[in-house]
Amino acid sequence: MSTFSLDPGADQLAVRDWLHGFAADVMRPAAAEWDEREETPWPVIQEAAKLGIYSLDFYAQQYFDPSGVGIPIAMEELFWGDAGIGLSIVGTTLAAVAVLANGTEEQIGTWAPQMFGTPEDVKVAAFCSSEPDAGSDVSALRTRAVYDEAKDEWVLNGTKTWATNGGIAAVHVVVAAVDPALGARGQASFVVPPGTPGLSQGQKFKKHGIRASHTAEVVLDGVRLPGHCLLGGKEKLDERLARAREGAKRAAGKGNAAMATFEASRPAVGAQAIGIARAAYEVALDYARTRVQFGRPIIDNQGVAFQLADMKTRIDAARLLVWRASWMAANNQPFTAAEGSMSKLYAGETAKWVTAQAMQILGGNGFTREYPVERMHRDSAIYSIFEGTSEIQRLVIARAISGMPIR
Ligand SMILES: Cc1cc2nc3c(=O)[nH]c(=O)nc-3n(C[C@H](O)[C@H](O)[C@H](O)COP(=O)(O)OP(=O)(O)OC[C@H]3O[C@@H](n4cnc5c(N)ncnc54)[C@H](O)[C@@H]3O)c2cc1C
Repeated sequence: MSTFSLDPGADQLAVRDWLHGFAADVMRPAAAEWDEREETPWPVIQEAAKLGIYSLDFYAQQYFDPSGVGIPIAMEELFWGDAGIGLSIVGTTLAAVAVLANGTEEQIGTWAPQMFGTPEDVKVAAFCSSEPDAGSDVSALRTRAVYDEAKDEWVLNGTKTWATNGGIAAVHVVVAAVDPALGARGQASFVVPPGTPGLSQGQKFKKHGIRASHTAEVVLDGVRLPGHCLLGGKEKLDERLARAREGAKRAAGKGNAAMATFEASRPAVGAQAIGIARAAYEVALDYARTRVQFGRPIIDNQGVAFQLADMKTRIDAARLLVWRASWMAANNQPFTAAEGSMSKLYAGETAKWVTAQAMQILGGNGFTREYPVERMHRDSAIYSIFEGTSEIQRLVIARAISGMPIR
């Protein structure tokens, strides 16, 4: 176990500086254009791939860094550059993590590289869980996966929504109900390989923020998948379903395992929010020092200076929560108070609040697209919604600290 430290070490600091250079020199100048275009910034992803920033190896290295803070540092820096482009770059990791967490070694070796493609021919991947009637309530999925034993094939039917990279991905990972009566315990994850007939993109959403990231419905109409596309394999699924059918007591153990996975992944999302908040804070600090009203810089007013003091304090507090939870995940510490959810909740709310303060400090300029803070504010709003809304994070924390089935 590594000791919890606020010094990430020389290697991590070098990675941070390298990513900062990419964020400042490549992402920032492209941010406004791709936000307006509302399209996936393929040239920027390709540039990231050439430099090794968009690759399975890079994320695996950060993930396994013993300090535990490799992923949050990378996320913060990229999202400091731009959140929409940042999500286009890291959206694939959502699907990759699903394969890493649930797949066999062979499945990981086959599918994870195909999700990223190559620097000459970059690909993205999509993780499709949410549905029109199953958002926060992930146990209510209607997409069905039925096993055709004669052909050793799975047949998937249903409609997914809100899928980041949905329809434009090479590889889609789809969560479907195998035994709907068992709720979340009756679900399984499937890889849909590139070019599989029956999978199509539905509506592409026009969004308030993170507009450079593609979000769409994914329609599954009689999608037939070979048996080996079931993540983890049939034997493991059958054992799991049998255990779930046996009764609530043992199933509760499974629920804890799923919760541990969420607790480990949520800090990474919190770190993205911190990147946005830090970016907006820096613009506001700079502006407050140079904007003169009543014959002096506006930061000379305590009202403005205190706002900036609170912004910086909340950003640092959020980062401490994120780093603690990431360190806990890397060192297999039990999340007894849902510390991962805590970090995502606080960081997401902080990003929304800090970016709103930044707009206020910039006055009229903050309200225009001449300055980046209005985009940052729009981008921040998703951080209280996806990967579990703020209300759902509070529910998870409340259950963890009370031991009660709070609803
Ligand atoms: C831009 C974007 C990208 C996304 N990317 C993906 C993706 O790649 N893959 C994927 O699978 N999904 C993705 N999502 C889906 C996202 O995770 C869901 O939108 C989110 O989980 C909320 O679900 P919902 O929108 O159906 O809201 P609902 O669940 O309908 O919630 C509506 C409101 O009710 C509140 N609420 C619900 N239940 C409770 C409760 N028990 N107690 C208190 N309050 C409650 C919520 O907090 C919220 O405020 C994405 C969403 C967006 C907007």
